[in-house]
Amino acid sequence: MIKTKSGNIILITSLVITMIFWLMFQFKLEEFPLFFLVQLTQITALIGTLLLSWSMLLMTRLNFLERLFDGLDKVYKTHKNVSIWGMIIITLHIVILAIQRVPNFSSAIKIFFPVHNQTYINLGVWSFWLFVFFVLTTLLMKKIKLPYHIWKYLHKATGIALILAFIHIILNPGDISSISVLNIWLLFTTGTGIASWIYFEFFYKLLAVSYYYRVTKIKKESEVFKIQLAPVDKKMKYKPGQFAYLSFINSKLSREIHPFTITSHPDENELSFAIKVLGDYTKTLDKLKINDIARIWGPYGSFANKFLKFNKDAIFIGGGIGIAPFISMIKEANKKPINNRRLSIFYCTKYKCEACFDNDFKKDAQKNLNISYLNKCSREGGRLTIPEIIKRVREINNTLIYICGPNRMADPLKKNLIIHGFPKTNIISESFGLL
Ligand SMILES: Cc1cc2nc3c(=O)[nH]c(=O)nc-3n(C[C@H](O)[C@H](O)[C@H](O)COP(=O)(O)OP(=O)(O)OC[C@H]3O[C@@H](n4cnc5c(N)ncnc54)[C@H](O)[C@@H]3O)c2cc1C
Repeated sequence: MIKTKSGNIILITSLVITMIFWLMFQFKLEEFPLFFLVQLTQITALIGTLLLSWSMLLMTRLNFLERLFDGLDKVYKTHKNVSIWGMIIITLHIVILAIQRVPNFSSAIKIFFPVHNQTYINLGVWSFWLFVFFVLTTLLMKKIKLPYHIWKYLHKATGIALILAFIHIILNPGDISSISVLNIWLLFTTGTGIASWIYFEFFYKLLAVSYYYRVTKIKKESEVFKIQLAPVDKKMKYKPGQFAYLSFINSKLSREIHPFTITSHPDENELSFAIKVLGDYTKTLDKLKINDIARIWGPYGSFANKFLKFNKDAIFIGGGIGIAPFISMIKEANKKPINNRRLSIFYCTKYKCEACFDNDFKKDAQKNLNISYLNKCSREGGRLTIPEIIKRVREINNTLIYICGPNRMADPLKKNLIIHGFPKTNIISESFGLL
């Protein structure tokens, strides 16, 4: 049975509440169906703004959201879906406004441009185009090769669009002229959205719990920096498979915050990460020095929850640096050999020389008879196949399949595993792109 996340239930409830309040306090039965289009513009404005407010709240990385949506990756997935739906519904709102003006086509087209005498309409139009711009740049960023840090700066301004939408609704003389429960609800939801944006963009670094660590070891192996850090004072508590946001304090490095998976085990005193050189920021990590200080926010994620909770056999499939979350999970399994659960590790790289954790896994497999290990090199011995995975499975319903790696590897694997009878709920995957 698929478990509905409580976050989704709350989200849907907020939509239903908005509809009920609209029906109770704004909808006029006597105007239906004559003013049906006007009524549609009202409800689309309300639902669209509510979804965009949710989208702001879901950006904040607040702990309770992780619990409600079952991990930060799911929170961000919902953030993306809610933003897209918000934009579609707001687009519908403006299209219906245009349809109302037909057959006066010049007036219908004018509705899409900020050239009106009433300021509140112009603000609404600006808000609409800003949202269209943000959502489209997010959806197309890979196609148009927009660098992530530039996208991030553009994305920072989404809150301005929500503020404009809010003023648009407040100043609209037809809709929000009197105090009603609907208006209070609107004020509360949009206010939460705007406050979330302000918190995340201006106060996250200041207010979110963070830890200071000192770099104690840096080792570079085949384009991967293995970095170890010791706590300066307070130690961060975490679970295997979780990740954290890091920012290094070094004048030669940008202060950008980037997410990386923790490869150490919670029982270790030092924290470690494996960081693959990929783009603008990770390329500069060779400037990092021993004793540099790192500020760390976290931990986040619930990737390993099922593995930690149930004593089931597990298959770990890590593509490239996607092997990172399994390192700490394997350490956890090694601490409880009595559990007799079987672990199969598939480390998928292009070439053998890229497998910088190969020796560690070989040692794990030698020491622990419940662990089997295979490094699959796509350019040397071919890609990992379903029969190779099935060979390691004792009982299909009692085996957790964990996949972490690029979507082009994870998606077809997941599909094929489901075709071969693996329960969907036993396949857990994480992608290193939160977008
Ligand atoms: C949950 C999670 C865990 C991760 N764990 C690891 C790990 O253990 N080891 C590792 O090498 N990489 C990991 N990554 C990926 C790592 O965050 C990116 O490779 C890194 O941020 C790239 O930055 P860049 O400027 O060098 O590259 P860019 O070319 O600027 O970015 C490449 C891609 O990385 C992602 N990215 C970049 N900056 C950020 C950011 N600030 N926040 C979120 N995503 C970003 C985007 O998808 C982007 O398209 C993880 C990512 C996530 C989301």
